[in-house]
Amino acid sequence: MEVIEQTMADGPGFRTSIYCAGCHHHCPGCHNPQSWDMNNGHWVTVQELLDIIKADDLSNVSFSGGDPFYQVEAFTELARRIKEETDKTIWCWTGFTYEEILADKKLSMLLPYLDVLVAGPFILEQRDTHLLFRGSPNQRIIYLTEKPDDTIPGTVPLIEIK
Ligand code: SF4
Repeated sequence: MEVIEQTMADGPGFRTSIYCAGCHHHCPGCHNPQSWDMNNGHWVTVQELLDIIKADDLSNVSFSGGDPFYQVEAFTELARRIKEETDKTIWCWTGFTYEEILADKKLSMLLPYLDVLVAGPFILEQRDTHLLFRGSPNQRIIYLTEKPDDTIPGTVPLIEIK
């Protein structure tokens, strides 16, 4: 697990980005192959992450990796507490497709607490460096709540939804 504070790389505006270890999608051309190994990180508690997130009044939150859905119970607990204890939005990146997540009871437990899901594996042959927040056009930006990030001060509008 690695935490980057006040980054602008993972979603609109300032964000606290949590990069988890572990991903079995193994997409060719992955931007972060060192994150594939579940043991290539250090363990932190939900409370430790929550304390870091809550200490920053300005930043919203992003979950990335690796793939947070390989630790779905822990990220669900973290996301639930973020929603209960703050008004921050949560973006989450995953190599699973939206349909795969919806079809899996365990994976879908995280969805109610996310605002935006960026779903699907990176496909090297389709790489497009002009896309916002994703590497290939098959990856879908899916709004799960009514609250678009572009209503939050300091963020940029996003209109692309596939
Ligand atoms: S899902 Fe993301 S982290 Fe996992 S292999 Fe694909 S691009 Fe890399």
